[in-house]
Amino acid sequence: MKKAVFPGSFDPITLGHFDIIKRGISLFDEIVIAIGVNADKKYMFSLEDRKRFIEEAFKDEPKVSVITYKGLTIDLCKRLKADFILRGLRNPADFEFEKAIAHTNRTLSNIESVFLLTAASTSFISSSILRVVIINGGNYRQLVPDSVLLK
Ligand code: ADP
Repeated sequence: MKKAVFPGSFDPITLGHFDIIKRGISLFDEIVIAIGVNADKKYMFSLEDRKRFIEEAFKDEPKVSVITYKGLTIDLCKRLKADFILRGLRNPADFEFEKAIAHTNRTLSNIESVFLLTAASTSFISSSILRVVIINGGNYRQLVPDSVLLK
């Protein structure tokens, strides 16, 4: 059984993340969306909200589950018996960043990282820019799954 962990902050989930997860479903038997908890990081949405947005968005998809975690992603993968880490690539900056993480993870474990290129239509979307739009009262409905709007 092919099981992948898709780690991230998801603060909040965007249509970019949504696209990667949807396409990952055809590659894996199970995808665990893992929301990382980093005590040093300030988040806009609470952990509960971030989890609920993703659960709502995939409520009809039995292959997708959502958990929260602390610590190294590779340790989480070992605990869950997941052999793959799924990540999205939007641009060269993502590639450079992801390459260093993936090489480190491969040095420390046997877990393979699998990258999907973003859909052209969502490749510009980032949670950080989205948060600026939200904070300033902009209309963000074209950037997120409906579950994020039901707040
Ligand atoms: P992190 O805090 O690890 O950057 P994010 O929640 O921002 O967490 O992103 C998690 C993953 O989703 C990363 O692999 C990132 O490249 C990917 N991602 C973010 N935005 C998009 C997007 N618009 N399209 C596809 N993948 C994306």
